[in-house]
Amino acid sequence: MKKNKNILQDNFGRQHSYLRISLTELCNLRCTYCMPAEGIQLSPKSHIMNFDEIYEIAKTFVDNGVTKIRLTGGEPLVRRDVDVILKKLATLPVDLSITTNAVIIDRYINTLKACKIRNINVSLDSLNAEKFKQITRRNDFEKVYQNIQLLIAEGFNVKLNAVLINGFNDNEIVDFIQLTKRLPISVRFIEFMPFDGNKWDKEKMVSYAEVMKLVHASFDISDVIRIQDAPNDTSKNYKIKNYKGSFAIISSVTNPFCDSCNRIRLTANGRLKNCLFSASESDLLTPLREGKDIEPIIQKAIQSKFKIRGGMDTMEKLEEPKLHSQNRSMITIGG
Ligand code: SAM
Repeated sequence: MKKNKNILQDNFGRQHSYLRISLTELCNLRCTYCMPAEGIQLSPKSHIMNFDEIYEIAKTFVDNGVTKIRLTGGEPLVRRDVDVILKKLATLPVDLSITTNAVIIDRYINTLKACKIRNINVSLDSLNAEKFKQITRRNDFEKVYQNIQLLIAEGFNVKLNAVLINGFNDNEIVDFIQLTKRLPISVRFIEFMPFDGNKWDKEKMVSYAEVMKLVHASFDISDVIRIQDAPNDTSKNYKIKNYKGSFAIISSVTNPFCDSCNRIRLTANGRLKNCLFSASESDLLTPLREGKDIEPIIQKAIQSKFKIRGGMDTMEKLEEPKLHSQNRSMITIGG
């Protein structure tokens, strides 16, 4: 039921209808750009939302106008009660989807179907098993690649997300696009973003402009077709003529899409982040456990959202390590 007061609209008129929920801080991979080498300080188990709490908080957002929920992590599928969570959330009137590394997704095909989940985003940064191992510090390339084929065969809409890192996987951009020749998937290249402990450096980032320069040098220019982006889309979408799939660039750094941002994030320990880049968070779990009304807290958090990238509105601010180290590492936000 949509409430009268509009608690999900911010001071810039942006309506927040898309909630990303991180189910866990744990992951079965150790991607170097996502998790600091020394690991992270995990929240005590008692501080992590249980499935009833996830449902309660999600329902409050849905009652106030959220229409889309994406589950993320850590790795959402490593959470033992993920099937219970999926089934509970599937009772809400929302478009439910998941972002995963796909290492163990073959175990959940029936649950995903039963919950009417159609859209699956899979993170894959290299098509080379050795490089996959280097970036994830795990040897699971074959498993992931097979599971991507399985998801496609089972009829899911698959998007592959690859974070581009200069000198590491930028030489695979064309190979990734070539995958879309025979596979009906969307490959999305993500600009490498700065977070606490990920040793970000602008030089390591491959920008939207650089990707397109390479695309135009590698394909006949008349075959590169700009396709319509979905409303509130964070990606610029393209396809190669007659290819089954498409590709896109998510340019959070060089070309932020803050004006049309409709996203909010809930961390596994029940904190609301009004922006991926924001250092501040609002605790919803403690007041929920105390039986308090969380709506006023949500409203205040939404109203304090900055216009651009958590207040890092210039490239200089984004490059300032002091500013991005005030934010969490991505492993505990969820992307
Ligand atoms: N484990 C799941 C997965 O692998 O998709 C969900 C969590 S993961 C943190 C979500 C997404 O964030 C992944 O696509 C990952 O590549 C992306 N990501 C993590 N750190 C990033 C960074 N520094 N810059 C850009 N994207 C990042």
